[in-house]
Parts: sequence; C-alpha cells; structure tokens
Amino acid sequence: MPADRFQALARSTLAALLCTLASACAHAAEAAPLLPQHHLPPHHREGFFQNNYTAFAPKGLLELMSWHWQARRDGLPRPPRTPTPVVAPEREFIAANARAGAAMQPAVTWIGHATVLAQLGGINLLTDPIFSERASPVAWLGPKRAQPPGLALHELPHIDAVVISHNHYDHCDEASLRALAAQPGGPPLFLVPLGMRHWMEGIAITHVVELDWWQSQRVGDVELVLTPVQHWSARGLHDRMRALWGGWAVFAPDQHLFFAGDTGYSADFADIRQRFAARQQDGGFDLALLPVGAYEPRWFMAQQHINPEEAVRIHRDLGARRSLGVHWGTFELTDESLDEPPRALAQARATASLAEEDFFVMAIGQTRLLPRRDAGQSALARNPQPAAASKPSP
Ligand SMILES: [Zn+2]
Ligand SMILES: [Zn+2]
Repeated sequence: MPADRFQALARSTLAALLCTLASACAHAAEAAPLLPQHHLPPHHREGFFQNNYTAFAPKGLLELMSWHWQARRDGLPRPPRTPTPVVAPEREFIAANARAGAAMQPAVTWIGHATVLAQLGGINLLTDPIFSERASPVAWLGPKRAQPPGLALHELPHIDAVVISHNHYDHCDEASLRALAAQPGGPPLFLVPLGMRHWMEGIAITHVVELDWWQSQRVGDVELVLTPVQHWSARGLHDRMRALWGGWAVFAPDQHLFFAGDTGYSADFADIRQRFAARQQDGGFDLALLPVGAYEPRWFMAQQHINPEEAVRIHRDLGARRSLGVHWGTFELTDESLDEPPRALAQARATASLAEEDFFVMAIGQTRLLPRRDAGQSALARNPQPAAASKPSP
C-alpha cells in the first residue's frame, strides 16, 4: 500500500478509535446528575465540569462517523494553496528582551498553533506549549505539524510561567511540558485549570498552581486570572470534562493580554469584559489571542470552536484593542484548509468594518512589539498603525 494511503487509513483509524472512546466517555458523563450541588459554583457538577451557557452536548458515534464519511467523500480538508508563512525569529531581540526586567518591551512571538511567547511585565510567559511533531496521544500517528515551531525549545528564553487552557493534546503536550520543566535555571510555574494538577504530578511536574474560574495567581508584577470559556476536556476514556478548561486574563502593568485557548461562541466574553471593567477603565485588553482555525464543519464544531466571524464578535465583546488570530496553520485538525482561516478572517473583518491591524495574523516565528499600556495609548491614538516591527530593537 502506498505510504500516503497507509497514512490516510491509519489517520482515520486513529480518529475513529478516539471518537469511539470519546463517545463512550460522553455517555458515562451524561449519566451523572446534571444539577449542581448547592455549595458549589454552577459549573461544578458531580465529578465533572460544565459550561456556563451551553451544556456541552457530546456528539454520538454516528455523528462522528458521518463527519468523517462526508469529509472523505468531499475530499476534505483540501491541501492548502499556500504554506503557512514562516519568518526567521528575532532571537537576539527575544533573548535581550527576556533579560530586560522593568525595561522589557511588551512583545509577542507566534511559535505556532496556540503557542505564543508573551514578554510583558518583566516576565516571559508561554501559552499552551506544543513543540512536538504531532498533536496526538502517540508519537507515530495523528495530526502532524505543517511547519516547525517558530522557536525551538532550546531557543526559548528562561520561561517564568506557562499557562495551559485545557488538556486536549494540541494544547497540553506532555513532551513539551516535560522539557520546559527541565529548562536550565529551574522550572517555570505551570498555571492550570482545576483538575489538572494530578495529571501534571503524574509526569513529575510539581511546580503547579491549579485554579478555578476567576481565581488568580501572581507571577512577579503580573496577575493571571483563569476565566470561563465554552469548551470541554478529555485525554482518554474515563476523564471527559473531569478537568476544567478556560482562558487566561493576564494583567501586567504595561500590558493586558487575553488568551482564549479553545472556545465556542458564548456570552462568557461579555461577562469577562464586565468582570474586569473596573480595572480596565482606560481600555480593554491590549491584545487578545483568539483561535481562528479548526472550525469546519460547523454542524459538528460550532459548540466548541469559533470560526473567524465569531472570533471578530469575541474581539468586540471583550473590547480588545487588538486581536491576534492563533490556532491555525499548524495542525490539520478539521475540514477547512490550513490556509483558509486568514482568508475567512479578512472577510469577517470587512463585514465588521475592522481594519487589518485591529485583528491580524502573524507568520510563525514573527515577533510583534506592543505599545505599553501606560505610555503607549496616547501614541496609539495619534497613530492607529500598530507598533509592529519585524526588526525590533531592544
Ligand atoms: Zn480543545
Ligand atoms: Zn485546539
């Protein structure tokens, strides 16, 4: 059998297996009582968690098989017309900025998928790190990355904190977490949603803070808050929705950043804006990292993954000054082509009369400087162009 046909067969076999497992778990979870205990928040259920606005309704095996059958029939996803853009990283700037302390220039570097290096408030922060070749429970099968990470693990500066949004394989990669825990100079602080600490300890990572929605943790001058989003969790047969999921609001003196992880569209984002209104009277998040990929087919994905049009709505709900589209161009997870999200985002921007600099995408490896929240806003008002710099100077 030709290698590509074997690969396709193996992929669909793994997908069917995972789907079967997920479906079995779903029914186990459904059997649990849905009413919350009175002394617990509404998203806490008996032995699992639930969303604020939509009880996650797991798709059955028939729907999963139907999706895969339709995709195969229609030849989806189609190969991308253009490869995901990649640029050589600004290694010297990133390294110097990492050591700059209070003089740090707020900046983000897209490493790929939902992995972003954020330099802000004097710390180096990594979101949902995945540097592995595949987003999968096994190293030899599953979605393979289309481009190498924008920075290799050994090229990262010393990471102070890692935020994890949820335990799906494309956001919570065991090999990457183990490598980060072993970084020279000591491990970062790993911030995880409730219910993930036990798994982290199982892979010998103990420098962990586990948070419920709206709880916070300080790292240096930076406060990080876990927020609700609409998603779910599972890594295997018996743990569906047993660990929480969420987004991260990151408040540094020089930058307010929001990282959504994976999410469907919900009123959670209007809630987030309202919740932080008092501390954001001078303006909403300076930058929101919002997923713009892995959204087709809608009948299957809408509840758990937004499309670019919904990402634009969330950008507005949050009152974000700017948004960066992530979670695209790296792993082929769903039916849209790898290069489709930026085109769909451009269309959504046009419909919403947003400028490209309001909600943009980057090349893998690219660094973008961000105006300081304190000093930068008046300059921003004079010049609506973002302080993007492919050749930043420290
Ligand atoms: Zn997910
Ligand atoms: Zn994802």
